[in-house]
Amino acid sequence: MHSKHHPTEDFRLNAEFDIISRYFKKPTASAILGIGDDAALVALSNNAELAFSTDTLVSGIHFFADTDPYQLGYKSLAVNLSDLAAMGSKPLWAMLSLTLPKSLAVENNKWLSDFSKGFFELAHRYKVELIGGDTTSGPLNIGVQIIGEVAQGEALRRSGAMLEDEIWISGYLGDAALALCHEKQQIKLEPDEIAHCLPALHMPTARVELGQRLIGLAHSAIDISDGLIADLGHILTASNKSADINLTAVPRSIVLQRYIHQGFAIDCLLAGGDDYELCFTAPKTKHKAIEQLSNELSLPLTCIGEIVQGKGLIARDAQGSEIKLEKKGYDHFSS
Ligand code: ADP
Ligand code: MG
Repeated sequence: MHSKHHPTEDFRLNAEFDIISRYFKKPTASAILGIGDDAALVALSNNAELAFSTDTLVSGIHFFADTDPYQLGYKSLAVNLSDLAAMGSKPLWAMLSLTLPKSLAVENNKWLSDFSKGFFELAHRYKVELIGGDTTSGPLNIGVQIIGEVAQGEALRRSGAMLEDEIWISGYLGDAALALCHEKQQIKLEPDEIAHCLPALHMPTARVELGQRLIGLAHSAIDISDGLIADLGHILTASNKSADINLTAVPRSIVLQRYIHQGFAIDCLLAGGDDYELCFTAPKTKHKAIEQLSNELSLPLTCIGEIVQGKGLIARDAQGSEIKLEKKGYDHFSS
């Protein structure tokens, strides 16, 4: 016989409101109305546009089920901050849709407490307010929506790249993918290498400040979540241009550099996911200003090539010879 009860009803009565008020409800300063009513209310600044983005982390696909909940809370917001950074937008508000297995939805549990701590550590750093969400029962799934603002007409789009723009990358690429190779036991990193790479995978740094500072400097931007070749490819497609890049200039950490003669390391560098660095294009006239910004933010910004006429991507080795890029064909490039 079918039960008349909705399967989540008990869960809802017992724990949902307790969970929300205990772990997620905080006073809001910038929002007019936060958690607690049927919808949140915010006021908009003059001459601002709103930027919206959402990203979902699914257990077993985007993270292992036993991932540290503090890091999961942190990363679920970080990946969303990264999307807004790529638009040059200032993040302001977030919504959190949590689907929790019953085992995690008990009162006073450490998983939720740690998850919430990780989430709010990052939220406080950038003054992002959690203004609502949804809590349901089911297989673990974490959806975050983020809302920010950007001055009218100023957002950095993928489609803005212009001929002769320089192509820049923030930070170093490939460490997160390298850490993932290690976690999947495809390679074995040394303890000091693990200490260096694991944070890139589990607690990525979204380039929130850089993104906003690139307004007025950059013509286009994207955050690198699927690997440089794929994500720069999105800029090229959207802008209807080609790129000529020097693969030896692609910034990599000293740890990744140690393995660069092996194919997997080149895959990590050029096609690894989860970096959350920004790739942007800017006119040559802004080169000095971008170097200065790099100093000011204490963040390496590296020019790897330029936007040219045509379609697709031209990749070169240290000698300037063209390299054919295929997923498995990076081995020629190792210096
Ligand atoms: P409704 O039934 O009207 O959809 P809910 O009972 O789902 O409202 O939620 C009550 C309040 O708690 C709402 O303000 C909602 O936005 C907020 N909320 C629910 N779940 C979460 C969560 N995981 N994180 C933050 N806010 C939440
Ligand atoms: Mg609801």
